[in-house]
Amino acid sequence: MINTLYRTVGNFLSPGGAGASLSILIYHRVLPEVDELFPTVATATSFDTQLDTLKKVFNVLPLGEAVARLKSSSLPPRAACITFDDGYEDNVRIALPILQHHGLQATFFIATAYLNGGHMFNDRVIHAVRHSKDKHIDLSQLGLGEYDIGTLEEKRTVIDAILKRVKYLSLGHRENVAEELVSLITDKPLPNDLMMTTEQLKALSEAGMEIGGHTARHPILAKLDEASAIREIREGKDYLEGIVGKPITLFAYPNGKPEADYLAKQVDIPRRLGFEAAVSTRWGVATRHSDLFQLPRFTPYSENPNRFAPMLLQNLRRKDTLANKLSPGS
Ligand SMILES: [Zn+2]
Repeated sequence: MINTLYRTVGNFLSPGGAGASLSILIYHRVLPEVDELFPTVATATSFDTQLDTLKKVFNVLPLGEAVARLKSSSLPPRAACITFDDGYEDNVRIALPILQHHGLQATFFIATAYLNGGHMFNDRVIHAVRHSKDKHIDLSQLGLGEYDIGTLEEKRTVIDAILKRVKYLSLGHRENVAEELVSLITDKPLPNDLMMTTEQLKALSEAGMEIGGHTARHPILAKLDEASAIREIREGKDYLEGIVGKPITLFAYPNGKPEADYLAKQVDIPRRLGFEAAVSTRWGVATRHSDLFQLPRFTPYSENPNRFAPMLLQNLRRKDTLANKLSPGS
């Protein structure tokens, strides 16, 4: 019953056609069960519930089709897309069967350098702190200070603090610091199956899921010169096209915050490399006035499943601050 009400509200906030808005959801991991360190990350159960609600309240379509229909003002009312970033193995093992069960398609943006046993720097940091030998860690030799990590709350705070400081270091430096951090504070080896294999990536594409570019090494593009940014984006695209045998036309900026993670002048790069649209991590919904190379996305994370639809409806009211304002009413 409540979903009927949500659809009615949705029709008002997100009608079809020229007045349409497109909700693009963003996921990273879907875990087998709740991770007590990150309790808001989707699990098999919560993802299943979310897709069930999403299907009842929204009209879900693949992002490639949604972009074409956004351009031709032919989106259905309450249009929504599902996207995943980075290329985690659980996307194939856990999320894919749930998507298939619901008959839904999603788009997976893959950072290609970490496929087949690699680790992104943030996962190294999380692994190290999670499995630390001690309740107090001294990272002063890495320039990161000292921390108490006796409780889950402390571990969360420390992970957050370290990631914030390490994220914007140069690419090579960032990977080195993360690697040293692991060897300093834990004896537990990193898992070698955190990210997809190329076989899994191929299977995902063959299952009808869309594959999108997310660079090779997931750099902060804003920190790169133009040649390096082009190289990273092109390398990821070429690699993916070699695996899935189809043109890769959708791109997601790593980290994805305008100005902090990619620059306004870099928005032209994916277009020049043959992409048809790109997504950021700025919250909001896309309309026909939106920049197709900076489509906003939204993550409705809540521990309360009943908040999922209301949060998506609330997001429909966010204004796209990067939308083209030169042609109002056009
Ligand atoms: Zn990412």
